[in-house]
Amino acid sequence: MSASVVPQSSRSGLLDKKFKSLGLEYDFDFVLHLPLRYEDETAIHKISQIYPGQSVQLEGVVTHSEVVFKPRKQLLATFKDDTGQISLRWIHFYPSQQKMLEKGGLVRIRGEVRGSSMWGFELIHPKMSKAGEALPKTLTPVYPTTEGLAQPSIRKAVLEALSRTVLADTLPEAIQQKYLLPNFAQSIQALHHPAVGTDPDELTQKLHPAWLRIKFDELLAQQLALAAARAARQQKKSFPMQIQPGELAAGLLKGLEFSLTAAQQKVIAEINHDLQREYPMHRLLQGDVGSGKTIVAGMAAATVLENGFQVAIMAPTEILAEQHFIKMKKWFEPLGIEVAWLSGSLRTKAKQEATNAIASGQAQLIIGTQALIQKNINFHRLGLMIVDEQHRFGVGQRLSLSRKGEHLLQNQYMVPHQLNMSATPIPRSLAMTFLADLEVSVIDELPPGRTPVVTKLFSDNRRDELLEHVRQEVKNGRQVYWVCPLVEESEALQLQTAVDTHARLQEELDDVRSGLLHGRLNTQEKANVMAAFVQHELDLLVATTVIEVGVDVPNASLMIIEHAERFGLAQLHQLRGRVGRGQVNSVCVLLYQQPLSKVASQRLKAMYETTDGFEIARRDLEQRGPGEFLGVRQSGLALLRFADIEADYQIVEQAREAAKELRENYPEAVEKHLHRWMRGKEDYIRT
Ligand code: ADP
Ligand code: MG
Repeated sequence: MSASVVPQSSRSGLLDKKFKSLGLEYDFDFVLHLPLRYEDETAIHKISQIYPGQSVQLEGVVTHSEVVFKPRKQLLATFKDDTGQISLRWIHFYPSQQKMLEKGGLVRIRGEVRGSSMWGFELIHPKMSKAGEALPKTLTPVYPTTEGLAQPSIRKAVLEALSRTVLADTLPEAIQQKYLLPNFAQSIQALHHPAVGTDPDELTQKLHPAWLRIKFDELLAQQLALAAARAARQQKKSFPMQIQPGELAAGLLKGLEFSLTAAQQKVIAEINHDLQREYPMHRLLQGDVGSGKTIVAGMAAATVLENGFQVAIMAPTEILAEQHFIKMKKWFEPLGIEVAWLSGSLRTKAKQEATNAIASGQAQLIIGTQALIQKNINFHRLGLMIVDEQHRFGVGQRLSLSRKGEHLLQNQYMVPHQLNMSATPIPRSLAMTFLADLEVSVIDELPPGRTPVVTKLFSDNRRDELLEHVRQEVKNGRQVYWVCPLVEESEALQLQTAVDTHARLQEELDDVRSGLLHGRLNTQEKANVMAAFVQHELDLLVATTVIEVGVDVPNASLMIIEHAERFGLAQLHQLRGRVGRGQVNSVCVLLYQQPLSKVASQRLKAMYETTDGFEIARRDLEQRGPGEFLGVRQSGLALLRFADIEADYQIVEQAREAAKELRENYPEAVEKHLHRWMRGKEDYIRT
């Protein structure tokens, strides 16, 4: 192509940038940058033997070329070898290409055969190169790439990295034999440059034995990392809590207007069990939206408070944190506990007061946003950190969280207990692979008296009908949520859409008292709108996804989600969970706009078919992969690149077993393997 005028040094800087955007930095990154598919360029085909759909490589001459304008401008050429002729066609082309064709002479071309033997074959946009060049002896890899980075550049970089890297096997012979694993170096070579005749489907579907080895190694590394994290945690010290006499917990229960479900009692017992140990609890509390996780958190807090330690509760949004604050204050202040609030939006003076109260220990139960884990916050004696909707926090935040509160006590590193809560149920397969380091408690039963939310799908041409529903619901003394369309591209546009949606609804429903809640309101404004809705001074709450988590207004019985096709499954499930929280029958209307993409219609179908959070999570995993569940999407950290925890379940099992064996008998192999696969991810291992 055209000669580059960019000086060498800055061009390679540009290239490096492109490589980096693909996560390719060190040699080993390139070694593991495995092809998506392959092209067979090992042979020159004869025109007399080609067939439609085949990828071919031909050598011959261009006998004729012209630019035609019917039906549109295109470049046509006739190409001939000694067995026949075909047409070439370019719909987009440069004058330079035109010139090259006119020059004549022997050329090599590559492309996919179209047409029929009856009307003649043609190649569209064939690739051209010099004839007579040596043919490769192996299949040509096609790598995942990014815009502006051509295959030849990646191929070259991978080849160079391969030649510089020693691919010594990390696994002892015995392990390789036991699990019938091919050698690592050979597997890597086989995947970059497969021998002619290798089944292309086995390669692209990752079923080839070489793939088995790579997937095994990846899963093994993950299991080893988790085991290391668990071992490291058990080395740490925590304050063991006394569960008895439990007066504070008893006092809390007495003040409730309900009694705990069996499922809630079970998970509280599990938490208490952990709190008594000398190493930190690291437990995930799962329960579908509305299953009553908050009181479980309250009970755990009561135990730790009674032992004379501080408890912190952190939530991902101000709205959610504030709801917790209100609830905890109501529950704990009558019991003589000092409940404090900390968020980034507090005025300087109030923030300083809160910070001081946290440091002196005067504040006993502290609720807030991620402001709680800022550097300048020092707890006096933090015994338990509760994190609500923990998967919404990024890896970095979870890291500083795990470091928070570690402090020296009698020369020992003491770490607070940690309870993570999530309403996004994590499918079993995922929990076993990624969260093997976590203990998991599940609230598998909803409080009594709930009727499941009925979900309806409405095309948006039925909006008028829907408005009538809203009026009716409001007339019956119920409250309604209206979720604004999601505009992911731009925050400004999102805001505008919310404002417009609210204005339009106010006009359409002029006898309904409505309010608007969005992320750009300041804390006070948000709190005011929320309070007005809670106290039923508003009938209709128009909101963005800020209401997604935790909002709890049992009198709300109708939820409308506009442009539901734009939301993810987990998000829709969370939103729907805002209704059906009381005794009244509730409805969730998913308003969608045609045409629906396949994925979107699958999502809406899933929402229509089930209200079971686990089932929804399973389908979500199928559609989006595990990153979403574990909150690592923002960090850009790919969790598993090669293995698929559902499809490769058997390999997962083998890797677990092998990890155990390695840790017991081959500690050097563990070191080597982790070093190879986890370099740069040490932080992740710790979370
Ligand atoms: P989530 O698990 O979604 O955080 P919450 O803790 O907000 O759920 O609880 C949802 C609603 O159910 C709240 O109004 C709460 O007071 C109520 N609730 C919790 N536990 C019970 C119970 N055992 N019996 C009746 N209502 C309960
Ligand atoms: Mg909650």
